[in-house]
Amino acid sequence: MTGSLLARLLRRSSPQQSRFICQRSISQSAAERTKETVSVEPPVLPAFDYVPPPYSGPSGDEILAKRKEYLSPSIMHFYKSPLNVVEGKRQYLFDENGRRYLDGFGGIATVGCGHCHPDVVEAIIEQTKKLQHSTVLYLNHAVADFAEALASKLPGDLKVVFFTNSGTEANELAMMIARLYTGCHDIISVRNSYHGNASGTMGATAQSIWKFNVVQSGVHHAVNPDPYRGLFGSDGPKYAKDVQDIINFGTSGNVAAFISEAIQGVGGIVELAPGYLSAAYDSVRKAGGLCIADEVQSGFARTGSNFWGFEAHGVQPDIVTMAKGIGNGIPLGAVVTTPEIAKVLTRRSYFNTFGGNPVCTAAGLAVLKVIEKEKLQENAFVVGSHLKERLKALKDKYEVIGDVRGQGFMLGVELVTDRELKTPAKEETLHVMDQMKDLGVLIGKGGYYGNVFRITPPLCFTKEDADFLVDAMDYTLSRM
Ligand code: PMP
Repeated sequence: MTGSLLARLLRRSSPQQSRFICQRSISQSAAERTKETVSVEPPVLPAFDYVPPPYSGPSGDEILAKRKEYLSPSIMHFYKSPLNVVEGKRQYLFDENGRRYLDGFGGIATVGCGHCHPDVVEAIIEQTKKLQHSTVLYLNHAVADFAEALASKLPGDLKVVFFTNSGTEANELAMMIARLYTGCHDIISVRNSYHGNASGTMGATAQSIWKFNVVQSGVHHAVNPDPYRGLFGSDGPKYAKDVQDIINFGTSGNVAAFISEAIQGVGGIVELAPGYLSAAYDSVRKAGGLCIADEVQSGFARTGSNFWGFEAHGVQPDIVTMAKGIGNGIPLGAVVTTPEIAKVLTRRSYFNTFGGNPVCTAAGLAVLKVIEKEKLQENAFVVGSHLKERLKALKDKYEVIGDVRGQGFMLGVELVTDRELKTPAKEETLHVMDQMKDLGVLIGKGGYYGNVFRITPPLCFTKEDADFLVDAMDYTLSRM
């Protein structure tokens, strides 16, 4: 029986069966290894030479009860039975029973170069023993040293660093700088983007279905240049015309800024269509605006081919914002801009008590050194490319996978119940995530419809880890 016939027959099967479409491929793939392997035994975690000490703290159930009583009712957790993680080492997490999980998501949430990296931990401890203070009132070399090292990683005249405590603060500050510099109020952001959780950034965040957006005056949301779901496929300049239309018809003709991620993270690892950013930047600059690159997720070597995500688009932003991986889990963010633009804040007194304090900047400097010493950008490129290839081979095997995309260690797998209609497979996404957790792999999810796996591991992820992750996904999909 041919693959396509099988596919058609399965499509005609009962509603219960067709809800979980994961039949063998209808097309022939180069990656025969993945395609032809039908996993009988569950895959086994790669060996790792560490056993955590016994945990004697409260159980997951007790913590959950406390969370429900004392923490915000808006916070969520992954998994039907949420995980109580008590320790982390490099690319692994351990639960209350000492069970080890491969962390395929924490690279974005916190740890660029691995959980509790000894060099970063040591830098934090040493600086804490010496001094923790505010960033601004006195001199301290840790703050200046990291600013210098960070500036050296950015192209052109992007040499002045403002430190913050988070990505939200960094984007709030970047937008404020742009408004002060240009004397304009209007900001253009891209639909399906995520830029933070304070009022200005929630205005720029254009994800209404996810409740992340709070309407703010003067913020315009441009059509998302999404090659998979967008109207114009991979034609970036066509999407960018919407930016020009917004400027022409939605503003006075001048704007303060355009803000965009290079690869949308929370939005489901959406790579912007080629040619979009440069065309959008052109329009914005002609309207007197500044271009802000939000590198909170795609920065710090994650995309493998470049240190910053925007570099793959051949553009030079006026302001770059960053957080997350910058401090390997320590609260730290930054805005980097040119001396000329930075000068605008001398008209105001911008004061941030803890943004870039000595302890956090000591951690930041250690992170940069680890990325270089352990060649983590190269690792993200090599292992990330291998991981993507294997995921693409899974797409040939299971029709429920509609798209595989991303760069380096910022990868997305979108699940659909119908490839042509691109119907989001939300339940299947949750099911696979839960099953993979039971096999010992943690991945994230996101996207407008919540049907995209986000695979964003720490940068020290190995080829064996990548194979295990894909084998676990394969095993799970084969049993749906
Ligand atoms: N920008 C992007 C692209 C993000 O993904 C996030 C966080 N998910 C932020 C900004 C906000 O960062 P933070 O949570 O540190 O405030």
